[in-house]
Amino acid sequence: MSNLQRITVLGATGSIGMSTLDVIARHPDRYQAFALSGFSRMNELLALCLKHQPVFAVVPAVEQASALQQALLQAGSATEVLVGEEGLCQVAAASEVDAVMAAIVGAAGLRPTLAAVRAGKKVLLANKEALVMSGALFMQAVRDSGATLLPIDSEHNAIFQCMPRDFAKGLGAVGVRRILLTASGGPFRQTPLHELESVTPDQACAHPNWSMGRKISVDSATMMNKGLELIEACWLFDARAAQVEVVVHPQSVIHSLVDYVDGSVLAQLGNPDMRTPIAHALAWPERVDSGVAPLDLFAVARLDFQAPDEQRFPCLRLARQAAEAGNSAPAMLNAANEVAVAAFLDGRIRYPEIARMIDEVLNQEPVVALEALDAVFAADARARALAQQWLGRHGR
Ligand code: NAD
Ligand code: MG
Repeated sequence: MSNLQRITVLGATGSIGMSTLDVIARHPDRYQAFALSGFSRMNELLALCLKHQPVFAVVPAVEQASALQQALLQAGSATEVLVGEEGLCQVAAASEVDAVMAAIVGAAGLRPTLAAVRAGKKVLLANKEALVMSGALFMQAVRDSGATLLPIDSEHNAIFQCMPRDFAKGLGAVGVRRILLTASGGPFRQTPLHELESVTPDQACAHPNWSMGRKISVDSATMMNKGLELIEACWLFDARAAQVEVVVHPQSVIHSLVDYVDGSVLAQLGNPDMRTPIAHALAWPERVDSGVAPLDLFAVARLDFQAPDEQRFPCLRLARQAAEAGNSAPAMLNAANEVAVAAFLDGRIRYPEIARMIDEVLNQEPVVALEALDAVFAADARARALAQQWLGRHGR
């Protein structure tokens, strides 16, 4: 039994969390859930705990903890319930844990993800916002602790698979010219621009190829998701923003590509199902079955590519500017975006106001250096306060 890996799944009740548990359940000889966290949807968390019997479950507050603990005891389960960010950090860093799936959405995932990094774990990173906010500090923590950082974002997982093993020497040293980051273009790729004024949250969340949580679905519609991924790619692969080109590829079959100086372009392909990058990262450097159907190229038949339309997707330009400015700019971009997306989902602002709000928030604040984690959270808080003020003036 010594090869059994114990896994903490942060954000177990979400889209990535559930896909992770699906892969884990296919390989009971290799993987065992050590801890599962949830923030809402307590019934789903209970069901997951009864199925996977983790040592710990983590919930946001004591009220949920006592209800869940009681239900677990009644069902004869020995799972112990922990509370809050402290509980999340504890199960991320526990000595018994081999790997941590970081699948909390947004800035809320930063401290627990960093706790896993600092404990030197194998960290499966889905929570891109954590890396976008704190890039330099995050990557320094990875180097200091010797943690193994494996990207779950399908694009970054694809790039990782197309890179040589020694890419950490630097892209130039390993002959990489460019990273080509593919984007589906989301549900509004062809919507007439004037109709974007009146699109609804449900339309924005109806992604043509991927089934995901609501926040990342809206980010995919605005292409802020691709902007965050551009910043994520710069940190993961030590690339400059100018070395990362976004390519709209509506079929989402090519998950990204790496362009080498000799003219070779390597791509990773597959059906759009997150269980592929999850299984890849869980088993790396081995391979295991993920449950994903084999790719049927005859059914796919064609692969299309387009340049992204900046008028349609202003968030992509805002993110590229933030990537180039560095320092506090990505943290502020991310925080303003989180407030804007939540306001859009709540019906307080219209879809085109997401980009407008972020742009105006970023223009109000100088970019400052982020020397420690406190400064990251301060930049995040400043952007949220400015975004709330914007909402006070323009929101419904
Ligand atoms: P989701 O909304 O389905 O799930 C989010 C999870 O985080 C849930 O378990 C929820 O309970 C938990 N959570 C939410 N707010 C929290 C808080 N304040 N504190 C603690 N936990 C909280 O989201 P998702 O689609 O699974 O995405 C998760 C992360 O993975 C995001 O960062 C997203 O960008 C990234 N990602 C997702 C996909 C995808 O296909 N879904 C693909 C690539 C990257
Ligand atoms: Mg992605």
